[in-house]
Amino acid sequence: MTTANDTARWTGWRPILGAGLLSLWFAFAGGASAQNAPAPSAPASTARPQPESASPAGPTRAAVAADRHMVVAANPLAAEIGRQILRQGGSAIDAAIAVQMVLTLVEPQSSGIGGGAFLVHYTAETRKVETYDGRETAPAGATPDMFLDADGKPLPFAQAAMGGHSVGVPGVVRMLALAHEQHGRLPWLRLFEPAMRMAAEGFPISPRLNQLIAETPQLKEFPATRNYFFDADGNPKAVGERLANPELAETLRVIANGGANAFYNGGLARAMAKAVREAGTPGTLSVEDLKSYKALKREPVCGGYRQYKVCGMGPPSSGGVAIAQILAMLEKFDMRAMAPNSLAAVHALTEAERLAFADRARYLADMDFEQVPLEKLLDRRYLAARARQILPERSMGRAEAGRLQRAALRAPDTLSELPATSHFSIVDGAGNAVAMTSSIEQAFGSRVMVRGFLLNNQMTDFALRPRDGDVPNINRVEPGKRPRSSMSPTIVLDRENRLVMTLGSPGGARIIPYVARTLVATLDWGLDMQRAVALPHALSLNGPTELERDTVIAGLAGELRNMGHEVTFVAHGSGLHGIQIVRRQGRTQLIGGADPRREGEALGD
Ligand code: GLU
Repeated sequence: MTTANDTARWTGWRPILGAGLLSLWFAFAGGASAQNAPAPSAPASTARPQPESASPAGPTRAAVAADRHMVVAANPLAAEIGRQILRQGGSAIDAAIAVQMVLTLVEPQSSGIGGGAFLVHYTAETRKVETYDGRETAPAGATPDMFLDADGKPLPFAQAAMGGHSVGVPGVVRMLALAHEQHGRLPWLRLFEPAMRMAAEGFPISPRLNQLIAETPQLKEFPATRNYFFDADGNPKAVGERLANPELAETLRVIANGGANAFYNGGLARAMAKAVREAGTPGTLSVEDLKSYKALKREPVCGGYRQYKVCGMGPPSSGGVAIAQILAMLEKFDMRAMAPNSLAAVHALTEAERLAFADRARYLADMDFEQVPLEKLLDRRYLAARARQILPERSMGRAEAGRLQRAALRAPDTLSELPATSHFSIVDGAGNAVAMTSSIEQAFGSRVMVRGFLLNNQMTDFALRPRDGDVPNINRVEPGKRPRSSMSPTIVLDRENRLVMTLGSPGGARIIPYVARTLVATLDWGLDMQRAVALPHALSLNGPTELERDTVIAGLAGELRNMGHEVTFVAHGSGLHGIQIVRRQGRTQLIGGADPRREGEALGD
């Protein structure tokens, strides 16, 4: 359990970054600039030993307001570095790069250069949204059966996730380089300097990192992670202990000087391939796989919701499509008239989610490999017809996928990715915005650490069972294919295509309902971002209705059961980080909120 003292100790990093960070200390002590009334607290239990479990809810806080620019990220050190880059005139993309490099160091359990990401970008000048796909790809040597045991049965997830075979070709560095070419303002090298310095000098271990080390004993099975995360007696390094990572400092220096190619070619690429091939349950990742990795620009998936346009990531993420579907189905309900934690609101949202998750399982996968009927899935008439299945008094139980003509016969993948990952939202001084969700999949990814960073286990976001009888699974492993994701970096625009919001969350498949509910909370219920992200969760992945344990919303269980909902109580590990743009009387303000379930921070000027 984290104590106030622990928090005070680990915030003792101030000397690393200089006096400008006093405000961050202040924020952690519970004094973030209060522009709005305090948010309702949403405590989460720590009882569940999850791959990346919920943290104790942070102190009740108020939304943070700023006039010029803002960063909201999962760790205060990373948010502060992002803000410093913005102060230097950096663009939202510049700040995103610096934030990601710091997160690789300070939040190694969630994201990093050994993983993949999706990024949604808004350019203020053209009022255009673009999306970047830095999702991992399956190595050329991967096979559909690779996660089956000798009897043809899927390996237990924990076994599949660990070791070299779960490592997909990392995409973060290439994706950020592509985005930097198009939207960077500061030199690439400069964006790496803060993380390099921090890696060399050390950073204080946060309560959450300490908690996750303690909950992940498998880290002891690999020499690199054992030495890095545990002391000589085998105890997790303590909260506040300074952890230096000179190997990562050197890796970052190589990428800073040599660009993305220095990551995908040469010594680093050889080291990654070797680590994967020599790990327990080795994988096939090769230097050639790394060399040929491509980050892609894809069309954003935008759906209308009332007077707004909500834009997100298309396949291989299921996030953008599922959120657009949920919102379109909710349009027929007067959500505004419902209170956030009311029975009516929980019922409408969870029923819409069931329908979206049924389609997601059946139709969504990497579009470069599978025929995805995108237009149909987003068709307003189709969605209006789907929404007619939502009855006011009765749950539909389990939703079926819509019947779409001409879709190839494929088995659905109902897998829900496990909750790790990190999301950050940024708005720069010119009004450009980034929503980036970045992941190494499970907490600490494959647990394979090389040159100071962890490699992902994103291959387990593929279906472990490649076919049902003779019918191939839509999300089966194929060389070069990208595993289906739920990551949902989201940007909302108004009728004139002006920026309204940037938002996203970690949480595996639950990302989709986390983000959908936060959109309703801000757009319909008029909550500020902090109140919206602190709302207790109630959601469905087309199974039970999951109510956040130990919160006011859990009190709806009886009434929901009476309506036919199967109810479970869950400790949620969301990490919703968002920024709203509020225009009032000719003045524009940024309002940021950071999920109290993690240790993130909104920082602006
Ligand atoms: N690997 C998951 C995905 O791509 C994300 C895991 C998480 O959010 O924790 O959807």
